[in-house]
Amino acid sequence: MNDVAYIALGSNLGDREQHLMRARSAIAELRDTRVIGVSAIEETDPLGPVDQPRYLNQMVAIETALAPRELLAELHAIESSEGRVRRERWGPRTLDLDIVCFQRQTVDDPDLRVPHKELPQRAFWQRELDELRSHAP
Ligand code: ATP
Ligand code: CA
Ligand code: CA
Ligand code: CA
Repeated sequence: MNDVAYIALGSNLGDREQHLMRARSAIAELRDTRVIGVSAIEETDPLGPVDQPRYLNQMVAIETALAPRELLAELHAIESSEGRVRRERWGPRTLDLDIVCFQRQTVDDPDLRVPHKELPQRAFWQRELDELRSHAP
């Protein structure tokens, strides 16, 4: 089943622009997937308790035949290929890829919630979603 999904990209370590750019290319190369929209890049303050650099954030809209769980596995592989090391939650990272939502599917498992459970709290995600939806075909 083809669906539209929104992926949040974030980076606050190393060459942040470069990590986002390479993530966009890797997402475009996923099987059965094409990129249908790319938001502006926005700089945001880090969330959570750890003192760390500011983030560059961006959102990408895709049309995909991948199921949410398959997409998550692919996104984790892209994070690893950009050198992400998993330390504490919300700690600094070269690349973070979150599934924000799918247009027509939801998931409610311990290790995967779609829509992402923090969507209501993250104003920048909502701005990026509005931006992408306003340009949707
Ligand atoms: P947050 O999810 O609050 O933005 P984070 O991105 O720093 O925090 P991570 O350490 O990257 O958190 O991810 C922790 C786990 O969250 C992942 O291993 C994944 O299983 C789970 N997870 C649950 N829902 C989602 C989702 N919609 N997108 C990405 N990961 C998710
Ligand atoms: Ca493709
Ligand atoms: Ca995140
Ligand atoms: Ca994440």
